[in-house]
Amino acid sequence: MEMGKRHVVCKNAVINWGYHIFRIRCKINPCFVCVIELKGSIMVKKIMRDPLFLAQKSVDATEADKQVITDLLDTLRANLDHCVGMAANMIGVKKNIIVVASGPFQFAMVNPVITKKTGAYQVEEGCLSLDGTRPCTRYQEIEVDYLDQHFKRQHGKYSGWVAQIIQHEVDHCNGVVI
Ligand SMILES: [Zn+2]
Repeated sequence: MEMGKRHVVCKNAVINWGYHIFRIRCKINPCFVCVIELKGSIMVKKIMRDPLFLAQKSVDATEADKQVITDLLDTLRANLDHCVGMAANMIGVKKNIIVVASGPFQFAMVNPVITKKTGAYQVEEGCLSLDGTRPCTRYQEIEVDYLDQHFKRQHGKYSGWVAQIIQHEVDHCNGVVI
């Protein structure tokens, strides 16, 4: 398939084909640049908008769900111009997995549990799974127990914007859309 062509494989998924390009500059003659192109594919899933589905609680993920993490990161990256975080139920998988965009990076949190929250404030939020914005209460600083992408136990402290994204996505895992 050609670069940039979208191929529909089923009603819930498309494969976007692209090229990953690596440039290696020769140390002896810096004008010589070797370009290696590797063809690859990413899975960008359709966004779930069914309120009855999104209202259901997700269950804890296991290492058998690693592909869901990859698909969720791919789908977030495909929507980065208007989305900063996603939960697995937004791609139709009721597992406690969220992904968060922080600056140029995107990271996954598996089975996240917010263990501490301080500094309540009111804010308006939007969501890829619904139209418009809604008011909600968030907390300035939070602490989270979670597993990373490699299923290693982690504990993190977050504040501000990233903390707000995590709270929004953890709500999704609990069947709460804003
Ligand atoms: Zn949302």
